[in-house]
Amino acid sequence: MSSPTIVWFRQDLRLQDQAALVAAASEGAFVPVYILDDDTPGDRLMGGAQRWWLHHSLERLKAVLPNLVLRRGNSMAELAQLAAELGTTRIHAIRHYEPWWRSVESEIASEFDLVLHGGNHLALPETILTGAGTRYKVFTPWWRALLEKMPPAKPLPAPDLSGAVSGIPSDTLEDWQLLPSKPDWSTGFNDWTPGEEGARAALKAFLPKLRGYDTDRNLPSTIGVSRLSPHLHFGEISPATVWHFAAREAGKEAEPFLREIGWRDYATNLIDQFPDYPQQNGKPAYDSFPWRSGPDADRDFVAWTKGRTGYPIVDAGMRELWATGFMHNRVRMIAASFLIKHLLIDWRRGERWFWDTLLDADYGANGSNWQWVAGTGVDAPMFSRIMAPLSQSEKFDAGAYVRKWVPELAALSAPYVHDPDEYGVRPVAYPRKAIGHRAARDRALAALSHTRTG
Ligand SMILES: Cc1cc2nc3c(=O)[nH]c(=O)nc-3n(C[C@H](O)[C@H](O)[C@H](O)COP(=O)(O)OP(=O)(O)OC[C@H]3O[C@@H](n4cnc5c(N)ncnc54)[C@H](O)[C@@H]3O)c2cc1C
Repeated sequence: MSSPTIVWFRQDLRLQDQAALVAAASEGAFVPVYILDDDTPGDRLMGGAQRWWLHHSLERLKAVLPNLVLRRGNSMAELAQLAAELGTTRIHAIRHYEPWWRSVESEIASEFDLVLHGGNHLALPETILTGAGTRYKVFTPWWRALLEKMPPAKPLPAPDLSGAVSGIPSDTLEDWQLLPSKPDWSTGFNDWTPGEEGARAALKAFLPKLRGYDTDRNLPSTIGVSRLSPHLHFGEISPATVWHFAAREAGKEAEPFLREIGWRDYATNLIDQFPDYPQQNGKPAYDSFPWRSGPDADRDFVAWTKGRTGYPIVDAGMRELWATGFMHNRVRMIAASFLIKHLLIDWRRGERWFWDTLLDADYGANGSNWQWVAGTGVDAPMFSRIMAPLSQSEKFDAGAYVRKWVPELAALSAPYVHDPDEYGVRPVAYPRKAIGHRAARDRALAALSHTRTG
């Protein structure tokens, strides 16, 4: 009998539209493996929120693929060990674009018969090229070029799993202690259902809202968005599957939503070209920007993380993030902009906080969105476009959202709830504004004037 092939799972924890699994199953006996690797990603280890998700997602995957082998250690070393145990050299995997995965993929390919498949993106980022054969940096032309390749291929059904080999030594999930215990800060995460079934249920629940997405997506008090991001990040559903369901449901009217799915691919397009993008300004002129540092800046940073800035919409977002591992996109933009422009704190500190606390923390999406808000990104609006958090809160009708997440303000109606300091109705338990909007704006523009941003 020929030796089995290995299917190496990473952020692709699904059975459907899983090209690596389909390929391995079609070749005969196979061993599916997930490796908890706290070595290869260097200083980009999965944050605590993601570890919570991973635990539940693997639990679901193991329920439908009981022969899934769990190993812990360096991916290259563990795959080499498993391959030796099985007497095989052939490995199937879905291609990943984070720089640490790319480098380990080439290391593995140099010693093994590694077959990489697409499937985590609408199209392979390296195939979206200008007429001159170069890569795009700006979203809109990139999106037009992507659309020419759409729709994506029809999703593959889950393969016959009877070839999955049993009896291969495996860790137990509990041994990995991915869940927080002392203290257990994850009680607010229980509205989520990680795993492929949960991803499909989230998509199904969202489809009837698709036609209202273009307006409702900006309203944090309304669940007008899909909440698919952690599912997509962990690959519990493929973007092609989301595309086909959405297009079937709403035809042309699905476009605003599909465009957002496109932003996810675009973020990968950026890290594929600029592997350091989440830690290096896309516009080098910002390297000399005078970010604040020292004890005052540290105190402001901590107040931001704890949702105690005195700006209700910012505080609501930061508390939602801490409690649920998620923050509404409009509020992410407001909270990030506030840290960068009102507090003049380097966007990279905020990116790291999100990295540790978001369930959907994604190297490409997080880094590129922080750079976009900061104005430092290759395709970002000017730094001088400064969001006014208080009027954003009113404009997007965030009253109910603020009352939910900032209980000190629960008794306030609009317009007071958006800016209790200004109206003189601030409860004593709620902090004063860290800095007034006008003063912050002037300070930010003055800082910018010291930077040659071209
Ligand atoms: C400062 C900041 C940091 C962010 N960090 C992340 C992150 O780490 N991971 C992440 O997945 N998204 C990130 N986003 C993008 C966006 O906020 C989330 O994808 C979105 O809020 C997830 O909610 P949803 O699934 O309901 O989105 P929907 O509005 O339903 O969109 C559907 C899907 O499209 C993708 N998407 C939507 N908007 C964006 C975007 N701007 N960039 C990239 N992909 C997008 C996501 O996969 C999302 O699940 C960030 C945005 C900002 C402003």
